Amino acid sequence: MNQVIPISRADVLGCASTPVISEKGQREVFCGLTGIIWLHRKIQDAFFLVVGSRTCAHLIQSAAGVMIFAEPRFGTAIIDERDLAGIADANEELDRVVSELLTRRQDIKLLFLVGSCPSEVIKLDLSRAAERLSRRHSPRTRVLSYSGSGIETTFTQGEDACLAALTPTLPARTARGKHLLIVGTLADVVEDQLSTLLRKMGIEHFDFLPPRRSAALPAIGTDTLCLLAQPFLANTAKQLESRGVKRLDAPFPLGAEGTTQWLQVAAKAFDVDYSRFEEVTRAPRQRAEQSLARHRAQLEGKSITFLPDSQLEIPLARFVYQELHMKLLEVGTPYLHRQIMAPELEQLPSTTRLSEGQSLELQLDRCDADQPDLIVCGLGLANPLEAKGFTTKWSIELVFTPIQGYEQAGDLAALFSRPLARKLKLVA
Ligand code: SF4
Repeated sequence: MNQVIPISRADVLGCASTPVISEKGQREVFCGLTGIIWLHRKIQDAFFLVVGSRTCAHLIQSAAGVMIFAEPRFGTAIIDERDLAGIADANEELDRVVSELLTRRQDIKLLFLVGSCPSEVIKLDLSRAAERLSRRHSPRTRVLSYSGSGIETTFTQGEDACLAALTPTLPARTARGKHLLIVGTLADVVEDQLSTLLRKMGIEHFDFLPPRRSAALPAIGTDTLCLLAQPFLANTAKQLESRGVKRLDAPFPLGAEGTTQWLQVAAKAFDVDYSRFEEVTRAPRQRAEQSLARHRAQLEGKSITFLPDSQLEIPLARFVYQELHMKLLEVGTPYLHRQIMAPELEQLPSTTRLSEGQSLELQLDRCDADQPDLIVCGLGLANPLEAKGFTTKWSIELVFTPIQGYEQAGDLAALFSRPLARKLKLVA
């Protein structure tokens, strides 16, 4: 039985060298296809064609909701038993589906072929298919491919795979001077707020990846500095680095403190002076702190466990610990990328129990022993845990909701305080 680790405000900070429980066992996570749900909303002229089974079609339809009035920008080419006759047949079938789609939908400028798990699909070489189809439909539509297979990806890794596929197609930057690239899908409203703050600081040359339209792919070069806005983009960061882009180490823009530290890294890299930074960030930061104070009153001292799901767990743990004064029991993450997470890990108490990967039964045993006030977990685990009397929060909500930046700090805190408030009402 694991011991509950007592945490006090006098904690020693920094768990960069804290031993990590590494587990390989039964997992309970979505596959990378899930990323299509937020990516198709972001890149407005892209289409995501899942090359998969009926299960894949069902997953994205039910997760995204059926769109009745809009033309959907994702679909599934079902490759099933019928196509087992031969790979040539499957390629022909795929080419036919793509041609029909692009004839019908002239608005599609970027088409992603998204791979999945069925063995019929694994046998298909989707990157070659994408090259072939790109040549055929050039210049109107570019075709790229990536894998969203549940064998290879957990749900936020789908975005990483998508952006890593997009990176080699980014044009080379010819303009001179420093340029900032903010990487990771953010809600438009968050992008607009961050853009305003950066401009007020005097940072003019910046872009977001992914862009809102594929025709506006940002140009990158050796003067480009990239700042990750999402923590699950290790492969994309590697691809960018191979193009000469320098990655800035920063915590993630969650909460008043996280957003300030994230912006500070950009400000320092662009030589923004301290007084200007303070002047630009003072008012929004105060608003964020005020909105957090209300939630802190409710959450201070409450214990929390994160089960591995979205790779947002470590930055979220830093936020709830540092800004809401919650007690961290276990912080589980599907993958721990120590370099990317270093600025977050150094702000967690040294006693934090970190776990990487998952062995579901063992982790649930630790929850039973710890009895956390709140468990952040995947959709599939929430109901069984609630039935056992735990209070849960679906981690997928933390991916779908705009939570980054000053103005969203209160909304982010509410995602943790609401389930506990609901529980109190139920008990009362
Ligand atoms: Fe399709 Fe595999 Fe995801 Fe299931 S886990 S929906 S088969 S890609």
